[in-house]
Amino acid sequence: MNTPLGNNANVDTRPWCHRCGGPSRVKDRDAVVLADLPCFGRPARLVWQKFRLCCPDGDCEMGSWTWEDPRIAVARQAMTDRAGRWATWQVGRLGRTVAEVARELGCDWHTVNDTVLSYGTALVDHPDRIAAVVEALGLDETLFCRRGERHRQEFVTSIVDVSPNRPAQLLDVVAGRAASGPTDWINARPESWRAQIRWGVLDLSGPYRKTFDDALPDAGQVADPFHVIKLANHKLDECRRRVQNETLGHRGRKDDPLYRVRRLLTKAPERIDEKGEAKLLGLLDAGDPKGEVRDAWHAKEVVRSIYDIDDAALAEQFVCELAIDLQHEDRPIEVRSLGRTLARWFDEITNWHKAFVSNGPTEAIIIERIKRIGFGFRSLPHYRIRVLLYAGRPNWDLFPTITPR
Ligand SMILES: [Zn+2]
Repeated sequence: MNTPLGNNANVDTRPWCHRCGGPSRVKDRDAVVLADLPCFGRPARLVWQKFRLCCPDGDCEMGSWTWEDPRIAVARQAMTDRAGRWATWQVGRLGRTVAEVARELGCDWHTVNDTVLSYGTALVDHPDRIAAVVEALGLDETLFCRRGERHRQEFVTSIVDVSPNRPAQLLDVVAGRAASGPTDWINARPESWRAQIRWGVLDLSGPYRKTFDDALPDAGQVADPFHVIKLANHKLDECRRRVQNETLGHRGRKDDPLYRVRRLLTKAPERIDEKGEAKLLGLLDAGDPKGEVRDAWHAKEVVRSIYDIDDAALAEQFVCELAIDLQHEDRPIEVRSLGRTLARWFDEITNWHKAFVSNGPTEAIIIERIKRIGFGFRSLPHYRIRVLLYAGRPNWDLFPTITPR
């Protein structure tokens, strides 16, 4: 293989002048230092004597140009191609930090980050990454970063393929948690792709309901069980803190019964042994004189049991009665509020029993992966590439042949 390395590059392999088509001549050799793969556990540098070529024809206005060879390094990259692919694999596939990889290559954080972005963008934006048929699409808000002196939280919306019978896949992340971000994203997809989506999976939030209403009016909407149970746990916690305050006049301290019971309350009962159960009931007896926390705890458990039902008609009847029961005037206000939410989201909650899609365990893996990428990102485009490389299931088989951007 002829390469423009060294001084004896064959004249035949030299490019022709782009302007007049005549042969070119070597004008100069510039030594370009590139970060290369680590060697024997130490950072390495590759020095490339890059030819500067010119056209010898005095009548041609071509001037001079640099002889690029993407097999060695892509133009303007500070790293060799093999090191760039290795770094992208380490960060994108294995989830290592940029700082770690930069240390191993002996180069700057920005050098590695820029490289990962340019190789990663090509892989992530490959049109085949998103399946031709997505039956169920999930939307979920994710904390992206904290900004400014007051650490204001900024959110993104994760768009996830939650089609049944295959692992969930993060398709994209868009700015904010309003309806417009995911609506625009869905509307930008081909009509035929949108038409295949039968279910939209969402948390109990109005904006995503609006997204599905506007962009996928024919798809059924499914309330994600994880969020329904999370709400029940949240109401239980609110109730516990209120009763704590009303009975003792202060926020929970470490010896207060309702403070000590807080973890046991939100734990699934199948994970509590006999000793734990005795402790839980004892602490509730001591700290919950009117039985309100106990009521909220019971409500949470009944809400969880919605997902033990595998018959759609039975589930509808069960949720309908439960929503009415929880709103009874004798119940604590937190439980009544939970009942109202169940009533308001009745269709979406019971649709789960028809669709059997959820952002469930497979999505938990995605969330874990997203969290592992961590905060600290200031730029959404950078975050997007990093998180999609790690959690968006790009086709890494294509990786050796992609051209970085
Ligand atoms: Zn020329």
